[in-house]
Amino acid sequence: MLRKLIFVLLFAATLFVGAAPAQAAVYAAATTPDLASVLKAVGGNTVTVVSLTTSAQDPHAVSATGPMLEPLHQTDLLVVNGMDLESGWLPILLVAAHNSKIQPGQRGYLDCSEFVPSTDAVANLETGMGAYHPDGNPHYMTDPRRAIEVAHGIAARLGEIDLPHAEYYRENAAEFAARLEDAMAAWNRQLAPYRGTKAITYHRSFTYLFDYLGWVDVVNIVAQVNEGYRLSYREGWVDVTNPLPRPGLPPDSARLDEVIADGRRDSVRLLLIEPFYPHMAAELVANGVGARLVDFLPAVRFENGETYLERFERNMTRLEQAAQAAAAEK
Ligand SMILES: [Zn+2]
Repeated sequence: MLRKLIFVLLFAATLFVGAAPAQAAVYAAATTPDLASVLKAVGGNTVTVVSLTTSAQDPHAVSATGPMLEPLHQTDLLVVNGMDLESGWLPILLVAAHNSKIQPGQRGYLDCSEFVPSTDAVANLETGMGAYHPDGNPHYMTDPRRAIEVAHGIAARLGEIDLPHAEYYRENAAEFAARLEDAMAAWNRQLAPYRGTKAITYHRSFTYLFDYLGWVDVVNIVAQVNEGYRLSYREGWVDVTNPLPRPGLPPDSARLDEVIADGRRDSVRLLLIEPFYPHMAAELVANGVGARLVDFLPAVRFENGETYLERFERNMTRLEQAAQAAAAEK
């Protein structure tokens, strides 16, 4: 029996090695570490993956630099987040890269927002809320369910670029999805008692995550896009005269008072912020409301070999502990 089992295991191992080609066939780059990690999971060992940014960077406000051009020169596939997340820095890099394969509209340019129904787009247009994002909220990678759609989309495009490995990419995406679904089942149980938790957030980055968790985003510290900004964004000019808060600028004291009032009204006990946003304003609000400040891990530490699932594992534990402590204080 044991000998038979060993034989089966050896045979399975041979099959696995046989199915996984040893040499990189495709060079690919992603604009964010989250997308790079999904690309890596789907591409396996036939795709060499580079992330243009790190988890320490605010993806809205990246500086386009020379070293970012190197991978773009030779890449076969560029995976982008889209919905204007990279509109401040990617277009110039694409011009400078002189790589016709990865220009928008080409097979080597994959905008993953096409796999995700946009949240917030209509609300942005109607109310002017939503910070930088008049075309919809681009922070869909905060929802693991969206990451699964993205993985299947990446697998399909990799399969077009590298037909001999199309099945391999499909299998990898299915495996990524299965692992994430298992993890989600556990997170759902873990966080079920905290559905309906209310939070203040610094930037409107958590819309998709909160949709997944059933949490309520009460107010954003940096939330206002004034009419002038929206018009100027649409028309491509800059309004320098409008005195209202602009996206990306720290909120003024009047704004902080508004947020504190909203937080008190709703008895909010949590404030979520990414490490790269200014903490002083967030601390003022947290103290004013009586909320606890939670640092959310904004992206995979791809540079350290972290996976998307591992980043979520850490975040879910952190959110559970914070929600538990907040509930106990009530
Ligand atoms: Zn944003």
